[in-house]
Amino acid sequence: MRADTNATVAKRNLAAALYERLVPLWPDQGPLLHYSTCFELLVAVILSAQCTDEQVNAVTPALFAAYPDPARMAVADPLHLEKLVHSTGFFRAKAANIRATAAMIMSDYSGSVPDTMEELVRLPGVGRKTANLVISACFGKPGIVVDTHVLRTARRLGLAPTDDAGQSERMIASACPENRWTELSFALNRLGKLVCVARSPRCDSCPVSDLCVSAFKADGEKPHKRTRR
Ligand code: SF4
Repeated sequence: MRADTNATVAKRNLAAALYERLVPLWPDQGPLLHYSTCFELLVAVILSAQCTDEQVNAVTPALFAAYPDPARMAVADPLHLEKLVHSTGFFRAKAANIRATAAMIMSDYSGSVPDTMEELVRLPGVGRKTANLVISACFGKPGIVVDTHVLRTARRLGLAPTDDAGQSERMIASACPENRWTELSFALNRLGKLVCVARSPRCDSCPVSDLCVSAFKADGEKPHKRTRR
């Protein structure tokens, strides 16, 4: 019992230290996907599965020009839609999900993107990651966006030692006050994209290496050799 309490306190202290140090480094918190409406963000995040933000940003201008809102997306020509999103991968499933999501927004939500987790995850192709991103970026509510970068960095740091995104979200949520969820998860995303990269994390230049249980030995690999500065 005492060990659990100590572990909980240690996680809270770690989350607080990460927040204090990382959030000021990346003050431009927000999605790297380009969008101008909540519907566009929702579509862009659906397209970002197994695809880079850069590639999604390359296809969305033409996509949104052709189908700028749920009403027009809901009746889009399926083959034209597939062609527009082809380069993001899994294009048939993504095109079908985008069209079906637009149709459900029209039929069940009067044409507006819903703003609750329960409603968002009903939409085809929308999981908790997508829902949390829309909830936080569009509606200003707290959301922990556990994408591949957040999952990896939170695991390596010891903040959420798991490979399961749902579990990771719950662990981060319990270690961090709700009003810090969004900023902390975006900061962990930037850390993962720029420093704690999947292969050969740059522990030498990591701003939180002194807090990290995996510093210079991420993923159980042999300790990374320190490079001469
Ligand atoms: S010290 Fe290394 S493993 Fe830990 S968060 Fe930084 S880059 Fe990642």
